[in-house]
Amino acid sequence: MKTTVKALENSRQNLFIGGAFVAPASGNYIPSFDPTTGEPWYELAEADAADIDAAVRSAQTAFVNPAWRRMTQTDRGKLLQRLAQLVLEHADELAAIETRDNGKLIKEMRAQMRAMPDAYGYFAGMADKLLGDTIPVNKLDMLNFNLREAIGVVAMITPWNSPLMLLTGTLAPCLAIGNTVVIKPSEHASASTLALAELIVAAGFPPGVVNVVTGNGDSAGEALTRHSGIAKIVFTGSTATGRRIAQNAAANLIPCQMELGGKSPHVVFADVEMEHAVNGVVSGIFAAAGQSCVAGSRCFVEARIYDRFIEALVERTRRIRVGHPMQEDTDIGPLALSAQLSKVESYVASGVRQGARIAVGGKRPQSSDLTGGWYFEPTVMTDARNDMDFMSDEIFGPVVGVIPFSSEEEMTALANDTHYGLASGIWTKDIDRALRFARNVDAGTVWINTYRASSFMSANGGFKESGYGRRGGFDVMQEFSRVKNVVVDYSGTMQDPFVIRLR
Ligand code: NDP
Repeated sequence: MKTTVKALENSRQNLFIGGAFVAPASGNYIPSFDPTTGEPWYELAEADAADIDAAVRSAQTAFVNPAWRRMTQTDRGKLLQRLAQLVLEHADELAAIETRDNGKLIKEMRAQMRAMPDAYGYFAGMADKLLGDTIPVNKLDMLNFNLREAIGVVAMITPWNSPLMLLTGTLAPCLAIGNTVVIKPSEHASASTLALAELIVAAGFPPGVVNVVTGNGDSAGEALTRHSGIAKIVFTGSTATGRRIAQNAAANLIPCQMELGGKSPHVVFADVEMEHAVNGVVSGIFAAAGQSCVAGSRCFVEARIYDRFIEALVERTRRIRVGHPMQEDTDIGPLALSAQLSKVESYVASGVRQGARIAVGGKRPQSSDLTGGWYFEPTVMTDARNDMDFMSDEIFGPVVGVIPFSSEEEMTALANDTHYGLASGIWTKDIDRALRFARNVDAGTVWINTYRASSFMSANGGFKESGYGRRGGFDVMQEFSRVKNVVVDYSGTMQDPFVIRLR
């Protein structure tokens, strides 16, 4: 793979269209920044409407190209297996690229990259298992069946927090079925998707089956989601952008899959092992410096252990090591964008103005090694209420607000008091109570005595303003295929069209 961290340094990266890297029509490039220093480290092509049009046309051509359209399901599966193997071989390089681009921990990115090949393999295995149905229609000489087929060109827009992992859950099934794809990664973390494009060529996918257009969301992303050649949009990002994209999709009458933000409740009952629950809450909010859609950012603790829990949570939080993401002993790296850092600071300040108290953290770290980087201390806020801005809006940073509760009913009402419905967690030894929570909480995922444990084999997605559509599991194959009903009359006759027979 040419696109290693070293090869990218001070380089210019082009668009990937029709199986080749091409310069943008405008000749414009924009910098991508290293979050540990705030300095640019490479430039990516800024696609405009002409480039987007070229990418969509290339995907349309590839969709009907016999090299792809007439490829057998088994052969499509083999291509995905080959890609899985290449991703595995290059997992550490891909991880290093993502860490450099978005500042997430190298150890976490490595784990993600090494898990990804299994997901490609899982969907590769589904390529030849997508079945249609035969429908009995009360006509003895008639065969009525549903064909499941690819839908066409799918646009995929990904965020910067885990670009390749979030892409995999939709790209792999999409290709397994025979669709073609145009990907628009975030301008803040495009490098790993461009590197994946090289692996897609090496795996042997026909040109144009996968295209990558980089650039700004407001221009490149907007042009892609408005393009009339797109059959479906898969979007992962903020609720505000999702709403806008859904309007573009509506204008073209095409479906979308929306994986949006969250403000997930994380509940702790008094009957738990304190240490485990604290570890769960810490992992739920501070992993990836809180830049995770499922972050457990609202913590509800049973009142009779509240003080002890806060004490233990603060003590554990103080021991978190904020540092350079490439160091193996770092627990939390920087935020990915300087705007993200300002956003986190302003939400913490507004929380304090609205009456919350900073129990630990709440500021940039003082250490001289971290100067210039976009770091923020892991922060616990007490005296929080759901109506405070930092508790109702998604911050996407390392900030958790804690609220005590006295009864299960009160806790359920507090947990569901949000526009979002992505994830949730509960710590208790009482299985009845845990299962009641699973029933009553408005969230697409419920974790019981764990948090952030997810799999490409199960359905992931949100309710309410966290979006719609699911990724993962076999059902995702329905999302990327369409049903065509075929009716065959094999009676060898055709009735007089004006004779209506009553049954
Ligand atoms: P944004 O919504 O700002 O951006 C997401 C993607 O959309 C980026 O590629 C961005 O491009 C692009 N984009 C921005 N504006 C437009 C537009 N008008 N038309 C088309 N595309 C556009 O989200 P963030 O990048 O800030 O990502 C964080 C958000 O993503 C959080 O809300 C988080 O919860 C959510 N998320 C959800 C996940 C889930 O599975 N539910 C998983 C991960 C994140 P560019 O960056 O170049 O502007």
